[in-house]
Amino acid sequence: MMSDKPDFDAGADVVRLADLIGKSRQIVAFTGAGISTESGIPDFRSPGGIWDRNQPIQFQDFLADGEARRETWRRGLETYPVVAAAQPNAAHLALVELERRGQLTAVVTQNIDGLHHRAGHDPERVVELHGNAHGVRCLMCDMLSAREAVHARVVAGEPEPACTDCGGILKPTTISFGEGMPRPAMVRADRAMRQADLVLVVGSSLVVYPAAGLPLIGVQSGARLAILNQAPTPLDDQADLVIQGRAGEVLPAAVARSAELG
Ligand code: NAD
Repeated sequence: MMSDKPDFDAGADVVRLADLIGKSRQIVAFTGAGISTESGIPDFRSPGGIWDRNQPIQFQDFLADGEARRETWRRGLETYPVVAAAQPNAAHLALVELERRGQLTAVVTQNIDGLHHRAGHDPERVVELHGNAHGVRCLMCDMLSAREAVHARVVAGEPEPACTDCGGILKPTTISFGEGMPRPAMVRADRAMRQADLVLVVGSSLVVYPAAGLPLIGVQSGARLAILNQAPTPLDDQADLVIQGRAGEVLPAAVARSAELG
């Protein structure tokens, strides 16, 4: 039976992406929430997700307002177990395969789910721009603890768990709206982009700045740009290749095909 988008097109997309990958030796992947939807974690900008119902809590509100902090931990009761249980999908694993082949120099991610690490990358190659949901830090004494342990305290009935060491305010090690970007991560991401020969965007709407500006740094430094995202992005007209498809289907197929071409 004929579908709206014939199989031939999907195949041609895969071949074009495989060709770009095959030509490249310094690939930098730039990933967003869309690479993890097939692992069961909803993104922000597709309708119907957990985050769809909630406005983000600004960093200043988190600092100033106990109710904003309690709301953060309340939301975590619903969202953290989803992230904690998620497993890397075929798209995450395809990027690990590119690293094993010596073609991928970095994964710059907006995601906080830790799935690139879990998929098996060299940790040095993963740059988490917005932090990670698996840790909690005391804003007073800087003590780092596992999210799992703090989450268990919230589940047990503490609405706003405090630092066990100094009594200070605890915050998940994710970057909130209104909070400064982590400088070391931005510096590493910037350097990787400048050295890239292919920037491969996977599952990002490319609207959250300053992170979304990073692929452009790669392009301005001479890299090709390929965008694999289900919806259009503001950088589509700058890209050498745009594929509107599912990351977990297109990327593994293109990575496998590029090995055949090579
Ligand atoms: P976004 O929600 O703005 O955009 C995700 C994009 O992925 C959308 O354009 C959507 O069309 C596309 N998409 C969804 N499923 C896809 C699939 N299977 N294959 C290909 N494309 C797919 O996400 P963003 O650009 O990462 O920015 C939003 C912010 O949300 C980020 O700062 C990020 O930290 C945070 N966030 C992270 C997670 C996570 O860690 N998994 C989840 C939700 C939100």
